[in-house]
Amino acid sequence: MLALQLCTPLAVNAEEPDFYAIRMELYKKVEATTNIPWYYLAAIDQYERNVRQSRRDLPKADGAIGIYFRPEEWAGLLNPNLTDENPASIQFFDGIGIDGNGDGKASFKNDEDVLHAFANYLLSYGVDHDNLKIGLWNYYKRDKTVGIIIGKARIYKHFGRLDLESHAFPVPLRSSYSYRNTWGDARGWGGRRIHEGTDIFAGYGVPVRATSYGIIEMKGWNRYGGWRIGIRDINNNYHYLAHLSGFAKDLQVGQIVEPGMVIGGVGSTGYGPPGTSGKFPPHLHYGMYKDNGYTEWSYDPYPHLKLWERQERKKARKHK
Ligand SMILES: [Zn+2]
Repeated sequence: MLALQLCTPLAVNAEEPDFYAIRMELYKKVEATTNIPWYYLAAIDQYERNVRQSRRDLPKADGAIGIYFRPEEWAGLLNPNLTDENPASIQFFDGIGIDGNGDGKASFKNDEDVLHAFANYLLSYGVDHDNLKIGLWNYYKRDKTVGIIIGKARIYKHFGRLDLESHAFPVPLRSSYSYRNTWGDARGWGGRRIHEGTDIFAGYGVPVRATSYGIIEMKGWNRYGGWRIGIRDINNNYHYLAHLSGFAKDLQVGQIVEPGMVIGGVGSTGYGPPGTSGKFPPHLHYGMYKDNGYTEWSYDPYPHLKLWERQERKKARKHK
Protein backbone atom coordinates (compact mmCIF):
# COMPACT_ATOMS: atom_id res chain seq x y z
CA MET A 1 0.00 0.00 0.00
CA LEU A 2 2.71 2.39 1.03
CA ALA A 3 4.77 1.47 -2.02
CA LEU A 4 1.83 2.23 -4.26
CA GLN A 5 1.42 5.65 -2.71
CA LEU A 6 5.06 6.43 -3.26
CA CYS A 7 4.61 5.60 -6.93
CA THR A 8 1.92 8.27 -7.43
CA PRO A 9 3.26 10.38 -10.29
CA LEU A 10 4.28 13.91 -9.44
CA ALA A 11 2.85 16.87 -11.34
CA VAL A 12 4.60 17.07 -14.67
CA ASN A 13 6.09 20.49 -15.32
CA ALA A 14 5.55 20.30 -19.05
CA GLU A 15 1.78 20.31 -18.54
CA GLU A 16 1.78 23.68 -16.80
CA PRO A 17 1.38 26.64 -19.13
CA ASP A 18 4.64 28.48 -19.65
CA PHE A 19 3.50 31.93 -18.56
CA TYR A 20 6.84 33.56 -19.36
CA ALA A 21 6.63 32.40 -22.98
CA ILE A 22 2.94 33.33 -23.30
CA ARG A 23 3.59 36.80 -21.86
CA MET A 24 6.66 37.44 -23.99
CA GLU A 25 4.69 36.52 -27.09
CA LEU A 26 1.95 38.99 -26.15
CA TYR A 27 4.42 41.80 -25.40
CA LYS A 28 6.22 41.25 -28.72
CA LYS A 29 2.93 41.19 -30.59
CA VAL A 30 1.87 44.53 -29.08
CA GLU A 31 5.35 45.95 -29.65
CA ALA A 32 5.03 45.05 -33.34
CA THR A 33 1.81 47.04 -33.77
CA THR A 34 2.52 49.99 -31.43
CA ASN A 35 6.34 50.36 -31.44
CA ILE A 36 6.28 50.46 -27.65
CA PRO A 37 9.32 48.37 -26.61
CA TRP A 38 8.28 45.03 -25.06
CA TYR A 39 10.22 45.68 -21.84
CA TYR A 40 8.01 48.67 -20.95
CA LEU A 41 4.91 46.53 -21.44
CA ALA A 42 6.51 43.76 -19.39
CA ALA A 43 7.38 46.24 -16.64
CA ILE A 44 3.86 47.68 -16.40
CA ASP A 45 2.34 44.22 -16.45
CA GLN A 46 4.70 42.94 -13.75
CA TYR A 47 4.14 46.03 -11.59
CA GLU A 48 0.37 45.56 -11.75
CA ARG A 49 0.64 41.83 -11.11
CA ASN A 50 2.71 42.51 -7.98
CA VAL A 51 0.26 45.16 -6.77
CA ARG A 52 -2.66 42.79 -7.21
CA GLN A 53 -0.84 40.07 -5.30
CA SER A 54 -0.31 42.37 -2.34
CA ARG A 55 -3.77 43.99 -2.18
CA ARG A 56 -7.10 42.57 -1.07
CA ASP A 57 -9.29 45.19 -2.75
CA LEU A 58 -8.30 44.04 -6.25
CA PRO A 59 -9.40 40.78 -7.89
CA LYS A 60 -6.64 38.26 -8.57
CA ALA A 61 -5.45 37.98 -12.16
CA ASP A 62 -6.74 34.85 -13.88
CA GLY A 63 -5.01 35.18 -17.24
CA ALA A 64 -1.37 35.63 -18.21
CA ILE A 65 -1.54 39.42 -18.03
CA GLY A 66 -1.62 41.17 -14.65
CA ILE A 67 -2.81 44.64 -15.70
CA TYR A 68 -6.09 45.56 -14.04
CA PHE A 69 -8.68 48.10 -15.16
CA ARG A 70 -11.66 48.99 -13.00
CA PRO A 71 -14.96 48.37 -14.88
CA GLU A 72 -15.74 52.11 -15.09
CA GLU A 73 -12.23 52.73 -16.39
CA TRP A 74 -12.65 50.08 -19.06
CA ALA A 75 -16.21 50.91 -20.16
CA GLY A 76 -16.13 54.66 -19.48
CA LEU A 77 -17.20 56.54 -16.38
CA LEU A 78 -20.68 57.47 -17.67
CA ASN A 79 -21.31 54.22 -19.49
CA PRO A 80 -24.58 52.77 -18.05
CA ASN A 81 -23.27 49.29 -18.95
CA LEU A 82 -20.13 48.62 -16.89
CA THR A 83 -19.65 45.24 -18.55
CA ASP A 84 -19.84 46.78 -22.01
CA GLU A 85 -17.77 44.91 -24.61
CA ASN A 86 -18.80 46.96 -27.62
CA PRO A 87 -15.71 48.87 -28.81
CA ALA A 88 -17.85 51.65 -30.36
CA SER A 89 -19.89 52.47 -27.27
CA ILE A 90 -16.82 52.13 -25.01
CA GLN A 91 -15.09 54.67 -27.22
CA PHE A 92 -18.18 56.90 -27.12
CA PHE A 93 -18.10 56.92 -23.30
CA ASP A 94 -14.36 57.53 -23.33
CA GLY A 95 -13.49 54.16 -21.80
CA ILE A 96 -9.96 52.79 -22.11
CA GLY A 97 -11.13 49.39 -23.43
CA ILE A 98 -10.37 48.35 -26.98
CA ASP A 99 -10.56 45.24 -29.14
CA GLY A 100 -6.95 44.16 -29.33
CA ASN A 101 -7.28 40.67 -30.81
CA GLY A 102 -9.76 41.59 -33.56
CA ASP A 103 -12.66 39.41 -32.42
CA GLY A 104 -15.04 42.40 -32.43
CA LYS A 105 -15.24 42.55 -28.63
CA ALA A 106 -13.38 44.73 -26.17
CA SER A 107 -13.16 42.41 -23.20
CA PHE A 108 -11.31 43.20 -19.96
CA LYS A 109 -11.12 39.45 -19.46
CA ASN A 110 -9.02 39.01 -22.58
CA ASP A 111 -5.24 39.30 -22.15
CA GLU A 112 -4.66 40.73 -25.60
CA ASP A 113 -7.41 43.33 -25.29
CA VAL A 114 -6.13 44.42 -21.88
CA LEU A 115 -2.49 44.74 -22.97
CA HIS A 116 -3.46 46.55 -26.16
CA ALA A 117 -5.67 48.92 -24.19
CA PHE A 118 -2.77 50.02 -21.98
CA ALA A 119 -0.46 50.32 -24.98
CA ASN A 120 -3.10 52.32 -26.82
CA TYR A 121 -3.38 54.69 -23.88
CA LEU A 122 0.42 55.20 -23.89
CA LEU A 123 0.43 55.76 -27.66
CA SER A 124 -1.42 59.04 -27.17
CA TYR A 125 1.76 60.32 -25.47
CA GLY A 126 4.42 58.81 -27.70
CA VAL A 127 6.70 55.79 -27.74
CA ASP A 128 10.06 57.24 -26.70
CA HIS A 129 11.29 56.97 -23.11
CA ASP A 130 10.37 60.50 -21.99
CA ASN A 131 6.85 60.40 -23.40
CA LEU A 132 6.20 56.94 -22.03
CA LYS A 133 7.27 58.29 -18.65
CA ILE A 134 4.80 61.20 -18.95
CA GLY A 135 2.05 58.78 -19.96
CA LEU A 136 2.82 56.61 -16.93
CA TRP A 137 2.84 59.59 -14.62
CA ASN A 138 -0.54 60.79 -15.87
CA TYR A 139 -1.94 57.31 -15.40
CA TYR A 140 -0.60 56.54 -11.93
CA LYS A 141 -0.01 60.06 -10.56
CA ARG A 142 2.73 58.67 -8.30
CA ASP A 143 6.47 59.25 -8.77
CA LYS A 144 7.41 56.10 -6.92
CA THR A 145 5.24 53.92 -9.17
CA VAL A 146 6.75 55.47 -12.29
CA GLY A 147 10.24 54.96 -10.86
CA ILE A 148 9.56 51.31 -10.06
CA ILE A 149 8.14 50.61 -13.54
CA ILE A 150 11.03 52.35 -15.32
CA GLY A 151 13.46 50.35 -13.16
CA LYS A 152 11.76 47.08 -14.11
CA ALA A 153 11.84 48.06 -17.79
CA ARG A 154 15.59 48.59 -17.54
CA ILE A 155 16.07 45.23 -15.82
CA TYR A 156 14.04 43.37 -18.48
CA LYS A 157 15.86 45.17 -21.27
CA HIS A 158 19.24 44.34 -19.73
CA PHE A 159 18.60 40.61 -19.35
CA GLY A 160 16.31 40.20 -22.36
CA ARG A 161 14.07 37.74 -20.58
CA LEU A 162 11.21 37.57 -18.08
CA ASP A 163 12.32 34.74 -15.82
CA LEU A 164 14.30 36.64 -13.18
CA GLU A 165 13.16 34.89 -10.03
CA SER A 166 16.26 33.11 -8.75
CA HIS A 167 18.01 34.24 -5.56
CA ALA A 168 21.26 34.07 -3.65
CA PHE A 169 22.02 34.27 0.05
CA PRO A 170 23.52 37.68 0.95
CA VAL A 171 26.84 36.31 2.25
CA PRO A 172 28.81 33.41 0.71
CA LEU A 173 27.67 30.10 2.19
CA ARG A 174 31.28 29.03 2.77
CA SER A 175 31.91 32.04 5.02
CA SER A 176 31.29 31.79 8.72
CA TYR A 177 28.06 33.55 9.65
CA SER A 178 25.07 33.22 11.94
CA TYR A 179 21.59 34.67 12.13
CA ARG A 180 18.33 34.00 13.87
CA ASN A 181 14.79 35.24 13.67
CA THR A 182 14.63 38.53 15.54
CA TRP A 183 11.64 40.00 13.76
CA GLY A 184 9.92 42.62 15.88
CA ASP A 185 12.49 42.55 18.67
CA ALA A 186 12.50 45.87 20.50
CA ARG A 187 16.24 46.21 20.22
CA GLY A 188 18.53 45.71 17.32
CA TRP A 189 21.32 47.43 15.52
CA GLY A 190 19.06 48.55 12.69
CA GLY A 191 18.40 51.98 14.13
CA ARG A 192 14.64 51.62 14.31
CA ARG A 193 12.31 51.43 17.26
CA ILE A 194 11.24 47.94 16.34
CA HIS A 195 13.87 45.87 14.64
CA GLU A 196 12.75 45.71 11.00
CA GLY A 197 14.99 43.02 9.63
CA THR A 198 17.38 40.18 10.27
CA ASP A 199 20.95 40.66 11.47
CA ILE A 200 23.46 38.33 9.86
CA PHE A 201 26.65 38.22 11.94
CA ALA A 202 29.85 37.58 10.00
CA GLY A 203 33.46 38.65 9.95
CA TYR A 204 34.42 42.19 8.99
CA GLY A 205 34.78 42.49 5.21
CA VAL A 206 32.97 39.25 4.30
CA PRO A 207 31.45 39.90 0.85
CA VAL A 208 27.84 41.12 0.76
CA ARG A 209 25.96 40.07 -2.35
CA ALA A 210 22.78 41.02 -4.16
CA THR A 211 20.08 38.42 -3.46
CA SER A 212 17.80 39.12 -6.44
CA TYR A 213 17.71 40.53 -9.92
CA GLY A 214 17.16 44.21 -9.37
CA ILE A 215 18.31 47.78 -9.61
CA ILE A 216 20.20 49.87 -7.07
CA GLU A 217 17.77 52.48 -5.85
CA MET A 218 19.80 54.00 -3.02
CA LYS A 219 23.40 54.00 -1.88
CA GLY A 220 25.12 56.09 0.75
CA TRP A 221 25.50 56.99 4.40
CA ASN A 222 22.86 57.33 7.03
CA ARG A 223 23.41 58.07 10.71
CA TYR A 224 21.90 54.78 11.89
CA GLY A 225 22.49 52.42 9.01
CA GLY A 226 26.03 53.58 8.24
CA TRP A 227 27.01 52.65 4.70
CA ARG A 228 23.89 51.14 3.25
CA ILE A 229 22.33 50.16 -0.02
CA GLY A 230 18.77 49.70 -1.27
CA ILE A 231 17.89 47.35 -4.14
CA ARG A 232 14.50 47.13 -5.83
CA ASP A 233 13.78 43.68 -7.25
CA ILE A 234 11.43 42.64 -10.04
CA ASN A 235 8.54 42.01 -7.60
CA ASN A 236 8.17 45.48 -6.00
CA ASN A 237 10.34 44.42 -3.05
CA TYR A 238 12.93 46.77 -1.65
CA HIS A 239 15.97 45.12 -0.06
CA TYR A 240 17.78 47.24 2.49
CA LEU A 241 21.34 46.24 3.48
CA ALA A 242 23.05 48.26 6.20
CA HIS A 243 26.23 48.68 8.31
CA LEU A 244 28.46 47.80 5.34
CA SER A 245 32.23 48.23 5.57
CA GLY A 246 32.07 49.84 2.12
CA PHE A 247 30.79 49.30 -1.40
CA ALA A 248 32.09 47.30 -4.34
CA LYS A 249 34.18 49.43 -6.69
CA ASP A 250 32.26 51.57 -9.22
CA LEU A 251 28.88 50.55 -7.83
CA GLN A 252 26.29 53.17 -8.76
CA VAL A 253 22.68 54.08 -8.14
CA GLY A 254 20.69 52.88 -11.17
CA GLN A 255 23.01 49.94 -11.75
CA ILE A 256 21.44 46.57 -12.47
CA VAL A 257 22.42 43.69 -10.23
CA GLU A 258 21.88 39.95 -10.24
CA PRO A 259 21.86 37.29 -7.52
CA GLY A 260 25.33 36.66 -6.12
CA MET A 261 26.91 39.88 -7.39
CA VAL A 262 29.20 41.38 -4.74
CA ILE A 263 27.99 44.85 -3.71
CA GLY A 264 29.98 45.50 -0.54
CA GLY A 265 31.35 44.01 2.64
CA VAL A 266 30.04 43.20 6.11
CA GLY A 267 30.91 45.99 8.52
CA SER A 268 29.89 47.82 11.65
CA THR A 269 29.23 51.33 10.38
CA GLY A 270 26.51 53.58 11.74
CA TYR A 271 25.42 55.28 14.94
CA GLY A 272 27.32 58.46 14.31
CA PRO A 273 28.62 60.87 11.69
CA PRO A 274 30.03 59.54 8.40
CA GLY A 275 32.85 57.13 9.00
CA THR A 276 31.74 56.08 12.47
CA SER A 277 32.13 52.38 12.99
CA GLY A 278 32.88 49.72 15.55
CA LYS A 279 30.10 50.52 18.03
CA PHE A 280 28.73 46.98 17.65
CA PRO A 281 29.97 43.66 16.26
CA PRO A 282 30.15 43.48 12.46
CA HIS A 283 26.92 42.25 10.90
CA LEU A 284 24.70 42.75 7.91
CA HIS A 285 21.31 44.23 8.64
CA TYR A 286 18.90 42.83 6.04
CA GLY A 287 15.48 44.47 5.69
CA MET A 288 12.66 43.88 3.19
CA TYR A 289 9.88 46.22 2.19
CA LYS A 290 6.93 45.78 -0.14
CA ASP A 291 5.25 48.46 -2.22
CA ASN A 292 1.58 47.98 -3.08
CA GLY A 293 1.05 51.07 -5.19
CA TYR A 294 -0.01 53.25 -2.25
CA THR A 295 2.48 52.62 0.45
CA GLU A 296 5.47 50.54 1.41
CA TRP A 297 5.73 48.40 4.51
CA SER A 298 8.34 46.32 6.19
CA TYR A 299 8.00 42.57 6.47
CA ASP A 300 10.03 39.74 7.93
CA PRO A 301 12.97 38.76 5.69
CA TYR A 302 13.91 35.75 7.82
CA PRO A 303 11.83 33.09 5.97
CA HIS A 304 13.18 34.39 2.66
CA LEU A 305 16.78 34.30 3.84
CA LYS A 306 16.27 30.72 5.02
CA LEU A 307 14.77 29.77 1.65
CA TRP A 308 17.52 31.40 -0.41
CA GLU A 309 20.17 29.75 1.75
CA ARG A 310 18.56 26.34 1.23
CA GLN A 311 18.14 26.86 -2.53
CA GLU A 312 21.71 27.96 -2.96
CA ARG A 313 23.02 25.02 -0.97
CA LYS A 314 20.97 22.65 -3.12
CA LYS A 315 22.28 24.24 -6.32
CA ALA A 316 25.88 24.02 -5.11
CA ARG A 317 25.45 20.32 -4.33
CA LYS A 318 24.07 19.68 -7.79
CA HIS A 319 27.07 21.32 -9.42
CA LYS A 320 29.64 19.34 -7.48
ZN1 LIG B 1 19.53 44.94 12.19
